Amino acid sequence: MLTDSYRHKGMRKSLVRIVQEKGIKDKRVLEAMEQVPRHFFFEKAFLEQAYQDKAFPIGEGQTISQPYTVAYQTELLEVQPTDKILEIGTGSGYQCSILLKLTPKVYTIEYNEVLYHKANRQFQLMGLTPHTFLGDGSEGLPQHAPFNKIIVTAGAPIIPKTLLRQLTIGGKLVIPVGDTATQKMLRITRLGEDEFAKEEFDNFKFVPLLGKQGWK
Ligand code: SAM
Repeated sequence: MLTDSYRHKGMRKSLVRIVQEKGIKDKRVLEAMEQVPRHFFFEKAFLEQAYQDKAFPIGEGQTISQPYTVAYQTELLEVQPTDKILEIGTGSGYQCSILLKLTPKVYTIEYNEVLYHKANRQFQLMGLTPHTFLGDGSEGLPQHAPFNKIIVTAGAPIIPKTLLRQLTIGGKLVIPVGDTATQKMLRITRLGEDEFAKEEFDNFKFVPLLGKQGWK
């Protein structure tokens, strides 16, 4: 198990300042970021990279998202302490650990088996207990729906209708949608049974969402 030190805490404070300077305002998101040791999600050889505001390879051709991107998506989710959240794309488990600081009810699904097991081991080491699933999250998790919030941490070609159906009324989906080069961050709010409001935010570059509703 890696240890957390004053030095790491100091580096986290600096990272939080960087993310704040880039425009993140939600105090709870910033506090969560200050609390979660991002270096726990890195291999020993790369610990020095953990507190840079950059995405980083986690194996299997995937990445741990840039801290600013994690903060940006989390802020858009407007997490309430009673929310039940679905994260699609567990990856390293870092985003999930941030969400767990905001609500205990986090469901997370990962498509890649190696990363799924690695993240589970990490959650165990950290004493965290999200509900983890291995499979195609592009279709959500219908057996555990509805969710107050859904966050997709990979770039999607479309807004999967099946995810919209798994939101509560008043629920929100945050999803990057576009081509494989760049995606626009969208937030869809379910206003009624068949009524949705769409908001558009900045452009990002994510690894592709795979699966039935993703890139083939
Ligand atoms: N949230 C992650 C973190 O904090 O490290 C970052 C995830 S990475 C940018 C995107 C992840 O989405 C990858 O681990 C990838 O394997 C996963 N992914 C891609 N398509 C998926 C799908 N259809 N269902 C579930 N996970 C998927």
